[in-house]
Amino acid sequence: MIKEILKNITGKKQAIRFPGGSAVSPEDAAKIPALQEGMGKVFRRSLRIRQVDGGSCNACEWECTALTNPVYDVERFGIGFVASPRHADALLVTGPVSRQMELALRKTYLATPEPRLVIALGDCAVDGGIYKGSYAVTDGVANVIPVDCFIPGCPPSPAEIIAGVLRLLEELARRK
Ligand code: SF4
Repeated sequence: MIKEILKNITGKKQAIRFPGGSAVSPEDAAKIPALQEGMGKVFRRSLRIRQVDGGSCNACEWECTALTNPVYDVERFGIGFVASPRHADALLVTGPVSRQMELALRKTYLATPEPRLVIALGDCAVDGGIYKGSYAVTDGVANVIPVDCFIPGCPPSPAEIIAGVLRLLEELARRK
């Protein structure tokens, strides 16, 4: 992998394959042009995401960070991260949503312009995960704000995250 990246920096660019075991199947990959067209209708060709840490252990964040590296490179799908919810189409929320983050998440949701999407990322965000039942958490994003897409895993791999987001976009394109 390192060799491939160095080759791209020093020589002619070539596509870098996903590592083995990728969750993005050839069928998903084949849908990408149609998904991008659908995304163009819904979000003007790009999907801007604001990531919100709702009290995660940080492993889900590491996988999100990997989305922008040269291997996964989600920008090629028109997907990118922004610093403010006011510039975002979607919120990508990790963690079980701790009580301390509950109000902040609600405010972030309200600050995101319509039509806004919410993606709950990781087992904790889905239903509290290993923190489920604790007095300190809300047991998942859906107990705080409406959720459009759940991506389970502890943590989900970058390829699984991409596959989840692409399926959400596919559903949006279908609704359009
Ligand atoms: S789902 Fe797993 S990796 Fe993600 S925040 Fe929860 S414990 Fe951490």
